[in-house]
Amino acid sequence: MSQKLAWIETELNALREQGLYNTIRALNSPQGAWLEVDGRRVLNLCSNNYLGLANHPRLREAAKAAIDRMGIGPAAVRSIAGTTTLHLELENKLAAFKKVEAALTFQSGFNANIAVIPALVGKGDVIFSDQLNHASIIDGCRLSRAEIVAYEHNNVDDLRKKIAQTGEYGRRIIISDGVFSMDGDIAPLPELYEVAEEHDILLMVDDAHGEGVLGNGGRGIVDHFGLHDKVDIEVGTMSKAFGVVGGMVAGKQILIDWLKQRARPFLFSSAMTLPDVAACLEAVDMLAESTELVDRLWANAETFKQGMKQLGFDTGVTQTPIVPVMLGEAPLAQQFSRRLFEEGVFAMAIGFPTVPKGKARIRVMNSAAHTPEDLETALAAFERVGKSLGVI
Ligand SMILES: *Cc1c(COP(=O)(O)O)cnc(C)c1O
Repeated sequence: MSQKLAWIETELNALREQGLYNTIRALNSPQGAWLEVDGRRVLNLCSNNYLGLANHPRLREAAKAAIDRMGIGPAAVRSIAGTTTLHLELENKLAAFKKVEAALTFQSGFNANIAVIPALVGKGDVIFSDQLNHASIIDGCRLSRAEIVAYEHNNVDDLRKKIAQTGEYGRRIIISDGVFSMDGDIAPLPELYEVAEEHDILLMVDDAHGEGVLGNGGRGIVDHFGLHDKVDIEVGTMSKAFGVVGGMVAGKQILIDWLKQRARPFLFSSAMTLPDVAACLEAVDMLAESTELVDRLWANAETFKQGMKQLGFDTGVTQTPIVPVMLGEAPLAQQFSRRLFEEGVFAMAIGFPTVPKGKARIRVMNSAAHTPEDLETALAAFERVGKSLGVI
């Protein structure tokens, strides 16, 4: 027997010993406030289903109607025969919703980053990237072959210093997450814009956790800070608050025209499916009609955060509905998560390498789908487990 794969067993065992082995649970129900997991009904505190749209009747109906009218698969990459009028309608609606000239959809937010970064910078260019940027930004940067200069997280002074220290390059771009997904803090976008303006550097923000969450009715971080027309590239996802799947890039028409010529995931990978596109269209309509879901999301998050603080938990630096419950070592976080699950609450432990060593946590994702009773259930479970493990 060949031993070619034996090293994987060694690596996996090492992960298990360090409490870093990630066990993936399977759901046997739609995404919602409650889930059926491993045969149990549990309160869901870990999805990015911020607005409860993942199983919303309006989105389901829109997807079904699209299947009946247009079928399912795009059957080709978009530049050959895979662009439908539905795709174009979604892009026009997204552009209007986000108050930009144009938008382009991708199969996912991950793909949007891999598409846009290498299309804008390459060899001889430089990227200034927040040290805690999402993996898809990091991969997009690496694929571009531009020089990558990481600056300290949300530290505009360090960014200025790094720009001053950096020699001559062709094109330059500053890239930051809008909301940082593990801590729930928000990028200082107005200050990043000032720096970008001063030095005539492109500015890109990845608003994956801000889309449908920040700004008026969920229009995102640019709307939140009133920076319309000032941020060159907005990346977003429809896989989180929109409750579907898909990515987008929004900005000037000329940017979108260029991506259609040069972005490799656009040119070499098939488009979003028709039911996905139709469900996203419905999600944008719902957000444009009313701020009710976004308002409820923020009210729920506020209730949960206040409750956790009163119980004595450390909820880190969050400014959004993402609530990290800081626990320190990974095995404690894993044990905490298992105990919560026994209490009927599903909340994931997150450890290295997703967050730094010694900063393991339970990450709670709030949702507009939760009722006040759900929040009480969650807080009571955290209290019981926190006390029994000596955290509070
Ligand atoms: C989740 C996330 C993505 C990936 O989005 P998908 O649509 O799930 O591929 C990209 N960037 C950031 C910052 C994210 O949080």
